[in-house]
Amino acid sequence: RPAIVWFRDDLRMADHPALHEAAASDQPLICLYILDDITPALHPLGAAARWWLHGALADLRRNLKKQGGTLLTLSGSAEKLLPQLTTLTGATSVYWHHRLHEKERAQDERIRKTLEQQGCEVGPHWGTVLVDPEAVRTKQDGFYRICGSFWKALQTHIVPEPLEAPVRLSFHAVPSSTLPDARLKEDDLCPHAPDWAAGFRKTWEPGEAEAQEHLEDFLRQSVSRYPGGRDQVAEEGTSRLSPYLASGAVSPRQVWAALQKHGAHAEGPRIFLSELGWREFARYTLYHFSKLPFENLNPKFSGLKWRSSAADLKAWQQGRTGVPIVDAAMRQLWQTGWMHNRARMIVGSFLTKHLLMDWKKGDAWFRDTLVDADFANNAMNWQWVAGTGIEATPFFRIFNPTRQAEKFDPDGDYIRQWVPELRGLSGRALFEPWAANEEDLRKGHVRLGKTYPYPIIDLKEGRDRALQAFRRL
Ligand code: FAD
Repeated sequence: RPAIVWFRDDLRMADHPALHEAAASDQPLICLYILDDITPALHPLGAAARWWLHGALADLRRNLKKQGGTLLTLSGSAEKLLPQLTTLTGATSVYWHHRLHEKERAQDERIRKTLEQQGCEVGPHWGTVLVDPEAVRTKQDGFYRICGSFWKALQTHIVPEPLEAPVRLSFHAVPSSTLPDARLKEDDLCPHAPDWAAGFRKTWEPGEAEAQEHLEDFLRQSVSRYPGGRDQVAEEGTSRLSPYLASGAVSPRQVWAALQKHGAHAEGPRIFLSELGWREFARYTLYHFSKLPFENLNPKFSGLKWRSSAADLKAWQQGRTGVPIVDAAMRQLWQTGWMHNRARMIVGSFLTKHLLMDWKKGDAWFRDTLVDADFANNAMNWQWVAGTGIEATPFFRIFNPTRQAEKFDPDGDYIRQWVPELRGLSGRALFEPWAANEEDLRKGHVRLGKTYPYPIIDLKEGRDRALQAFRRL
């Protein structure tokens, strides 16, 4: 009688405790993925993440095929489909990894009860975090609200060693007539007309082996330069592991173990691991504070009057704000599905402070356009940038985009790459074309208001307006 392994945001073979446990049961396996757009979704997958999912499912299927198996992909309500599938196939056990948000956990609990009533055993494991979020507690048995203290406490726990991919798996063939109406049309995950994913295909290859390659390349070439290099937006100074971590092509424990092996005490690896600590803290916060993606975690900000302007939001989304570093970053996002972390902070600060628009608008746009869109990381970082989170940058910290560009894109390469109409400018004129003299603009073939927009907000006015709005609270 078969066992079902229910894959979710853990699309890999190695370090997959659920797959490992199922393999150890000696039952033939049914490997399953369900795209559930039906259950009142907490976080429906955005378009970019769907594009990524298409590649990640194909990769997992190829890896299973090497062992004689396949991946069954369904679309519909998981709460309905799993019990139906267990009945149809006679499966006696189902394995999966825990999810984090209380509503997801409640759904898993309902599924567990239904399956157990059918006589099925259910074995959930932790597979997407370093350590069980229940285990990391303060001395008063509470939960951490500050990442630094959380990370220090987490490191006193033993992070389990990653598991090797199981070999010699046996599989249960599911007849193609099983649940025919629920088969996932995987091609629908990719855009057709218009096909906006050409830049994605040039930039990314989803897959488990590719994730390992990224990790190894990063350890070989960049980790020692990470402390300074990670903020330079034009450089490849970071690992670009985020979409692999978000889809689970690599587990945080694999990354942790690779860094330990490399020597985690040097400055580069230590700082890099602390970024993995932010990822872990975002998951921990989502687990313990379920309103993270929906409300300001700091109630002081609930009375904040955000502005509403469809035109400003559109200019921000399309990279046409007239502020070069902001536009470069938003266009990098649109064309590749990814944006550098420093640039995310700059565009986040510009939206929530200079434009005084609700961080949830930015969160929603990122969720639709990032290949690494991550329910926990995205919301926690947006609240951090806006200053509304439990651990957040103070509200009066407003990035000046020009100063940020001068510091983190000093040669202007990033702006020139993503905003080609400004390529002819250099120095200060490239960072602030509105302040450039006529001669520089003419030589650079820039006509403000024609080839490149005037800024949609005067930076000083925007800053003062934000400070006033925040101070009123
Ligand atoms: P590296 O610097 O190589 O870091 C390694 C890994 O650590 C990352 O892959 C990521 O998993 C984790 N990490 C790094 N920085 C952070 C951070 N600040 N918070 C949480 N985890 C971190 N990251 C996402 O994965 N998904 C998101 O949806 C997301 N939305 C964001 C929104 C905003 C407004 C901001 C400011 C940041 C957001 N981040 C998000 C965090 C961060 O920008 C990305 O994880 C990082 O840029 C990914 O690039 P990398 O893999 O090269 O990072």
